[in-house]
Amino acid sequence: MRKVLVVDDHQANRIALTSILRDLEVSLFYAASGSEALKLVLHHNFAVILMDVNMPLMDGIETTEIIHSDEAYKNLPIVMVTAADNSSDALRKAYEAGAIDFVYKPIEPEVLLSKVSQFVELETARINAEANREHLKVILDSAGEGVLGLTLAGDITFANPKAEAILGLAPDSLCGTNIRAFIYSSELEEQIRKESRIFSTLKERNNLQCDTECWFKSDGTTISVEYTCESTVTVEGSSTAGVLIFQDITLRKLRETREKYLANFDSLTGLANRTSFYEHLNKSVSRAKRSKELLSVIIFDVDHFKCINDTYGHHAGDTLLREIGQRVSLTLREGDVVARLGGDEFGIILYDISEAMAANAVAHKVIESFSQSFSLNDIEVDVSLSVGVAIFDNHSMTSEELVRLADTAMYQVKHEGRNGYRLFESEMMKASIEKRELHMLLQRAIANQELYLVYQPKIAIDTKKMIGGEALLRWKRKDGQNISPAKFIPIAEESGQIIALGDWVLNEACKQVSAWGKNALPISINVSVKQLLTRGFSQNLEASLVKYRLDRNLIEIEVTETGSIEDQQKVSEELQKIHDMGIRISIDDFGTGHASLDYLRKLPFDVLKIDRSFVKDIGLDEHDEEIIRVIMAVANTMGLDVIAEGAETLEQLQFLSKIDCHHIQGYYFSAPLSVQEYTLMLKDSSNILAPKFSSLTSYLKTNVA
Ligand code: C2E
Ligand code: MG
Ligand code: MG
Repeated sequence: MRKVLVVDDHQANRIALTSILRDLEVSLFYAASGSEALKLVLHHNFAVILMDVNMPLMDGIETTEIIHSDEAYKNLPIVMVTAADNSSDALRKAYEAGAIDFVYKPIEPEVLLSKVSQFVELETARINAEANREHLKVILDSAGEGVLGLTLAGDITFANPKAEAILGLAPDSLCGTNIRAFIYSSELEEQIRKESRIFSTLKERNNLQCDTECWFKSDGTTISVEYTCESTVTVEGSSTAGVLIFQDITLRKLRETREKYLANFDSLTGLANRTSFYEHLNKSVSRAKRSKELLSVIIFDVDHFKCINDTYGHHAGDTLLREIGQRVSLTLREGDVVARLGGDEFGIILYDISEAMAANAVAHKVIESFSQSFSLNDIEVDVSLSVGVAIFDNHSMTSEELVRLADTAMYQVKHEGRNGYRLFESEMMKASIEKRELHMLLQRAIANQELYLVYQPKIAIDTKKMIGGEALLRWKRKDGQNISPAKFIPIAEESGQIIALGDWVLNEACKQVSAWGKNALPISINVSVKQLLTRGFSQNLEASLVKYRLDRNLIEIEVTETGSIEDQQKVSEELQKIHDMGIRISIDDFGTGHASLDYLRKLPFDVLKIDRSFVKDIGLDEHDEEIIRVIMAVANTMGLDVIAEGAETLEQLQFLSKIDCHHIQGYYFSAPLSVQEYTLMLKDSSNILAPKFSSLTSYLKTNVA
């Protein structure tokens, strides 16, 4: 309840005033003298004081003067109560002392009531305003955002502590400074644009500009801020035209920039990554569709990168990838995109090329740039690339299809021996589609029982005996089509399906050998290097031997030389395990791959199979004949048995027998046989093969003569 003080030395007057004010909701205080009034003022907040002018000792004017001389009570409203005949001089003095109004005796109740009520209302309004201000201050002080009051001209009228903290300024140093001092922009034009947005918001009443970002500068640093600027409804006399609420988003911006970088760039090489490569490509494809510009995609990977990684370590591998990125970037035009698509695979987008040959020329340049070796930890390393090129020339093509074409061309290069480039041709596409189709069908081949084994006899021409056979996988599709292993084995190797196929072959061959019982001769099975390197191959082999109770000399394995150059250490360990189990190991297709003498010496081979491609040329190519002689000499020195694959003619057999290569596998004696045919052969090989041997004997006799 508001308080009202009545100051009068006559009790009768105090009672009279009390009865007039009785109905007001105020609490009345009384003072009988000036000094009593002063004491009460010190202890209470009065809405108004009714002050008698004439009092002994300290009159009303003097009391008023003393009260208003104190800064804290300067605005305390004092209404003088005086006789109506008071001189104008007394009135003047009272006003000078700070009196705000007068009531005259005899007091008219309505006049007094109306005046006192007004002052009480004013006090109530003042107290409420104060409370609001306090409340607002608490909010502003604890706000997580910087809050600035601005004049139309941009001068700061108030700032909360957070605003000062963000701008790195001492408390109370912001007011009076113009906001322009803090808006940072590297471009003048940009600055004007940013500023003008704030100022145009300030000028228009009730305008709000939300969540705008800009740079502030303060204390020599720039910070990124997000602000909302709102113009206030201008209160008459208030200089504040608007409020700017802002927060420091520098860290968020940095994080966003970093995330954006990580999302679009490869952290190892700093090149664009796969995502950003496809973003660029999608845009270029749409542009090329509109403008008929020629667009090309080049995909390449590093030949034998795995070997480099294994030999020199992953750190060196990483360094190499970085340097490759740099070297390739240098060979391209500015604006062409180079990206690392993953692992050792890279992609290039060439915009607006004049003709398809121009893309080939770039591929050539990229390969040329690799003629100089790379230096890894002070070791010079020669690196080559397989590069596939595709041109966007069919307007219904998608980015993914374009990349697939380049990929296909790249695989063609790999197939042809790596280190080169190829422009995609539609023949390749056919092959690639067929490959994918076979891959899918192969998935179900085992379950659909489309696979079976055939067996090709191996013959010793010196003793005229069959000495064993090789199990060869066959695939007859549900639709009756036979697919050659030369076609599906490489696909299965590439996709990893070879592991399941190999397991099936191993089990099937062991089961069959066991079924042949006492007639059985050793059967060799082909094992892909990939299968050899899957964990547990040797255990599988052991388990199959045990399961079918087979003698160890009845199963042999053949490993193709071409496949066994990489992962040599592991291959060697695995072969050793198998060899230690008492299993004989052949090196298949010898002469076509990379096997060195050292390789032959280190790995536990028992038999060397001369590849059919050399045998085929006997009598036609002296060079190949010479190679066969060398292979024989090597095998003899190393104590390896030799068998020649693919002998079809008497002439070939004569040559082979002359150089003491007596073991033969080839159509001359027998093509691969079905289980039934081979079973007959096992039972009666001497009779079945007799005509073949007699022709051979007479041929050898005739030709020696
Ligand atoms: P390979 O292991 O070198 O098998 C010998 C291939 O030469 C067989 O072809 C065989 O039919 C063929 N051949 C044998 N003698 C003659 C001949 O006198 N003239 C001609 N023109 N060809 C002859 P095939 O069965 O088509 O197998 C091709 C390759 O597929 C095999 O070569 C082997 O590398 C692979 N392969 C076959 N079966 C399997 C298997 O079960 N597992 C694995 N990993 N690879 C297999
Ligand atoms: Mg073989
Ligand atoms: Mg072979």
